[in-house]
Amino acid sequence: MNLHKPIYICKKCNLEVGNPKRRFWRNYCESGHRLPDDATVRSFWESFVRTFMGTFFLLFSALSAVLVNLAEFTRGTEDGALAGFVGIGAGLALMIAILIGRSSLRQSKAWNERGGAVLKLVPRARGRAFGCLSAAGFVMLYSGSICAQAICARFGSW
Ligand SMILES: [Zn+2]
Repeated sequence: MNLHKPIYICKKCNLEVGNPKRRFWRNYCESGHRLPDDATVRSFWESFVRTFMGTFFLLFSALSAVLVNLAEFTRGTEDGALAGFVGIGAGLALMIAILIGRSSLRQSKAWNERGGAVLKLVPRARGRAFGCLSAAGFVMLYSGSICAQAICARFGSW
């Protein structure tokens, strides 16, 4: 048994596809449905770690960009519009991560109720959902603690 060969599940037929038909770089099931990359079986933890690392890296760089811009802004070397734009961008990235997490969670619930071959895709969708949401949570906590530190520095300790 080859462990590296991905197991494809067709979401439309709700069947496991043993030998997907290849057309260029895309895979198709027996009935001709396209099999996207996320139609392969993956464990919860593998999916979680991959999603968490990707999302965390993305959100963390967005947050760093905000902090750099804020520092430049307070020093008066940059105008407020740019700092505002970067802040909105980081906020959007955070929102998108939360939305992807929520939709993955909903998808895994729907597959759970449907049953059949799609059940094998549930761990991957759950891993993606928790990966997105916990990365977003970490970044929010981190930016929250930075805000708290800034407030403490401004008003002194109490
Ligand atoms: Zn199909």
